[in-house]
Order: sequence, then structure tokens, then C-alpha cells
Amino acid sequence: MKVYADHAATTKLDVRAFEAMKPFLLEEYGNASQLYSFARGPKKALKEARETVANCIGADPDEIYFTSGGTESDNWAIKGAALSAPIMQTVATSSIEHHAVLHSCTALARLGCPVAYLPPTPEGTITPETARERLNDPTRLVSVMYANNEIGTIQPIRKLAAVVHDRGALFHTDAVQAVGHVPIDVKDLDVDMLSASGHKFNGPKGIGFLYIRKGVKINSFVDGGGQENGKRAGTENIASVVGMATALANNCKKMNEHRKHLLYLEDVLLNGLRQLNLDFRRNGSLNHVPGNVSLSFRNSDGEMLLHRLDLKGICVSTGSACNSKETEVSHVLKAMRVPDEYAKGTIRISLGKDNTEEEVKAIVKAFKGILG
Ligand code: PLP
Repeated sequence: MKVYADHAATTKLDVRAFEAMKPFLLEEYGNASQLYSFARGPKKALKEARETVANCIGADPDEIYFTSGGTESDNWAIKGAALSAPIMQTVATSSIEHHAVLHSCTALARLGCPVAYLPPTPEGTITPETARERLNDPTRLVSVMYANNEIGTIQPIRKLAAVVHDRGALFHTDAVQAVGHVPIDVKDLDVDMLSASGHKFNGPKGIGFLYIRKGVKINSFVDGGGQENGKRAGTENIASVVGMATALANNCKKMNEHRKHLLYLEDVLLNGLRQLNLDFRRNGSLNHVPGNVSLSFRNSDGEMLLHRLDLKGICVSTGSACNSKETEVSHVLKAMRVPDEYAKGTIRISLGKDNTEEEVKAIVKAFKGILG
């Protein structure tokens, strides 16, 4: 039996999204920027997809900018905001961000931009109090992720945005792990920018979006043609945009149902593992993305566990799939001060809406074989 339990790394394409994409690859392949009637279909599809995406996060359509994915959206938001200020001001982020954010900040630091890092609590939460204490210098932007990719912890985004706005800075959130999985309303959250990625919610890979609140001025990402309101040049990827919008709308419609199913599967997994009497802890806070379960087994080795599970047909991750070559303790667990004897034996099981109880029981059984 093959069990895919690495949905925080990527998800299977929604078949309805695939069907919605097909015409724009094979028939209506015209360039949406052209003036002839053959471009009308793609142009209309682009407009409708923008409306659909906007609707799913409570934005206006002209606040949605299509990008090549989460990495690009994060790079754009952070560098675009920092470099558009008349003088370089501090950029602050958390120490548990994805590398798309952390390395964007490192790149800015190389240009002389001061960068500050907000530490998490042991549960992986960035508290508004920490933000209030640490944000002292004139700050251009603060970027704190909506939900962590390794542990699933959801951050108090609305409260953080309020503190940041009090300091006169812009607030960006990397919501790559959250969009399509938990309800999001950008107006209610009062964020200035929000990143998302299609392949994390059953859309295609290589497509994402950045929400930029009306009135927020940041540099354009790439220069060229006038696409995406002159801010992100390049011929539009209509098929992927349509696929992403279809997948997002479908996931948002069924969000509650998926949530219940995933929390039930989490219980099956954790109760099953507890019955094996293994010494393990779950990382992160109770407020988390449903299905994301980070487990640390005492005196074990995450990579060994990953390979042994793989031999049994089970796909999980040791930490962030995007840096799976690293064998050392992840920066997230380090920042949370997870004791070393646990941190080294960490794996992330990220269940998806299509996982079944039978599959979860197969994971428990595999653990029994490996550690029991
Ligand atoms: N941000 C977070 C929190 C992620 O989990 C990921 C991917 O794992 C990214 C950004 C990068 O997204 P993409 O793969 O679309 O570039």
C-alpha cells in the first residue's frame, strides 16, 4: 500500500482543476494580451480566475497578482517593500519562517538592510507581546508566516498586524500553508500583503499569487510588459491560473468537511501511536493547520525514520521538504528549543483530505514495526 502523507510539501492536482486547464493548453492558447478575438477566451478566464481567488480570501480582484508560486510571492513582497522605501529601514521577520522568506531577508541584509528576527514560544507562536517589545527601530516591513510548514502552528496574524501598523510598518504574511486549508479574510486580518501557492491546495505547481492591498506601493517584481497591472511582467500562465482558481474554490467550499476529517485522522494517528508506548512528543500549538503533525521520537533519527517508512510505502518528511537534504535539526525546532534528544528524531506527517483511516492505521503499524 502506498500512503502519501506529505501534503505540506505538495498535493495532488484536483481533477476538476486539470479539466478546467485543458482547453487553455490545447485550444484556447491565445496570448491574453492580444487584441484579436482569439485572445478573448483566455482574457475572460484570467479575469474570472482573479475574481474567484479574490473571493476566496476576501480581497478585491485588482489586489491579486499572479506569480510563479510561494517563493516568488515572498521574494516580491519582502524585497519589493524594502527596496521601495526612500531610505533603507529595518525589515523584521520571525526565526521560524520558510527559507523563501529567510533568504529574501539575508539578501536584503547583504545590501545593508537591517534585519530583525522575532523568536517563537516553545509552541512555535510569535506573540504580539514579542513583536511589541522587539520592534523599536524605524521599520519598513514585518513578515510573519500564517502557518508554519514544519509544525503547522497558526500565528495570531490579526493581532500581529495591529502591532506592526502601530509602529507604522507594512505587514506581510506567508500564507502558503494556510490558504485553501483555513478560512482567510485579508480585510478582517488587516494584512498589507499575503503570499499563496497553488500546489499546496491541489492546484498546479509553478503558480501562486500575492495579495497586495490597494494603496500599498512596492517595487515591481520583474520588468517587461504591462501584465499584472505593470507590476509582474511576462505572458500570463492562463491554464495554471485557471487550475489554481478552480482548486482553491473547490477546497474553500469543502473546508469544514476537510477539517473535521483531518482532525479525526490526527486522533487516529496519535491514539494509535500512544498505544505503542513510544517516547515521543508532538511539536507546535493546538491552533494548527488540520493534518499537519510534527512528531519527535526520543533518541531516534528523523532521516532513518523517513527511509524506513519509505521502504514500507509511506511518504513523510523530516522537516521542511524544501530542505530535505539537511540532516541537522531544523531551524524551526532549534528556535523553539525542542531538546536535542527529541529534535533529531523528528518527522512531519501531513495528512490530506484524501487520506483514509486505513492509511493512517498503516502508518501506525509501520511505526510499530520500526520502533515498537
Ligand atoms: N512558504 C512556505 C511556508 C512553504 O511551505 C513553501 C513551500 O513549501 C513556500 C513558501 C514555497 O512555495 P513554492 O513551492 O510555491 O515556491
